[in-house]
Amino acid sequence: YGALESFDPDIAGILVDELERIRGGLQLIASENMSSPEVLTALGSTLSNKYAEGYPGRRYYGGCEVVDRAENLAIERAKALFGADHANVQPHSGASANQAVYGAFMQPGDTILAMALPMGGHLTHGTKVSFSGKWFNAVHYGVDKQTEDIDYAEVERLAKEHRPKVILAGGSAIPRLIDFEFFRRVADEVGAIFWVDAAHFIGLVAGQAIPSPVPHADVVTFTTHKVLRGPRSGALVCKEEHAAKLDKAVFPMMQGGPQMHTIAAKAVNFKECATPEYQTYAKRVIENAAVLAEALGEKGIRPTTGGTDTHLSLHDLQGIEVTGADAEARADAAGIVLNKNAIPFDPQKPNIASGIRVGTPCVTTQGMGTEEMREIADLIATAVTKGDADPDHAVSKEVRAGVTDLVTRFPAYPRG
Ligand code: PLP
Repeated sequence: YGALESFDPDIAGILVDELERIRGGLQLIASENMSSPEVLTALGSTLSNKYAEGYPGRRYYGGCEVVDRAENLAIERAKALFGADHANVQPHSGASANQAVYGAFMQPGDTILAMALPMGGHLTHGTKVSFSGKWFNAVHYGVDKQTEDIDYAEVERLAKEHRPKVILAGGSAIPRLIDFEFFRRVADEVGAIFWVDAAHFIGLVAGQAIPSPVPHADVVTFTTHKVLRGPRSGALVCKEEHAAKLDKAVFPMMQGGPQMHTIAAKAVNFKECATPEYQTYAKRVIENAAVLAEALGEKGIRPTTGGTDTHLSLHDLQGIEVTGADAEARADAAGIVLNKNAIPFDPQKPNIASGIRVGTPCVTTQGMGTEEMREIADLIATAVTKGDADPDHAVSKEVRAGVTDLVTRFPAYPRG
């Protein structure tokens, strides 16, 4: 880290330590990935200095002619990648993109129909601790008790009963594909806007590995740092008829100056996503997730819904009598990074939870395949069932040796 190392060794040391942390363990957080050096180069550039309130060609500051080119490229690439009428690449994050949808289509007190957080939704989908549940009337659907997949009958019943302004599909812990045609039909029947929050799975759409919500939804919001593998940020695409409204909602309603370095990094990422290599990657992410879910299931760590069609699986630990919090701590002590997660109808509090969520975006970026997924399942099962939160425990050490072997064979950010 050159000059930074001599001026601020504390922060330089943190950058090095974080890189070593990433390299040293198995990263199985479903919402994380490892951006390319090209994306990171754009992020660490002088475009960070530029104020550019407004949109390309219509800025409130001088000197925007260079950054305009970056934003125009990001917009055109996003439109081409997703076959969308319009793209806004300025949202700072997934939550910011979501705010813009509320700002564009809803007045305080209006009703939104969305998936409940404990069933797989997201904080910004109308929970009481978020602006979305404080300022709007959120009605929530969940999952079917038998299938553990979205309760489509409940979606239709609640839509007809409450006639929401907006119907939202998508969430943070949904292992299965979503029936977008169904949501579109219900939204049309009750005169609602149909919004898809594709934060989790947009990378699989970009890689043409799963069906796209873009032809069906009025607006699709997403983060750019999950399977997609871009910078930490957000974006949205929409039908032409909503373009002006959503642009005004992003700026000036919800945000100030756009982060031009991040927008340039999004442009780099969208270019990466249009390559055959990325399409292969997206398909392998799903293959790996399916094998990992199945292999964990064989060890008594049951995947909800019976498996996955996407990059993540949710596992019920009640059968092995371990809580999500204990499983997370035991895995962590052995160098496996995953998160505790509520499962549908969870009897535990959210900070304890009965489940874990695992995802394959990072390990697939490292080049691991289905054989390695079986090894990972063995390591997780040993850590979670026999391990301990103490890194010096014999089982933690034994599992860590297996983790080290894997990440040595498939290094993150290979040296040189
Ligand atoms: N929407 C969904 C479905 C998410 O999973 C997330 C983040 O995990 C977000 C929105 C929020 O994204 P951000 O953390 O970038 O604000």
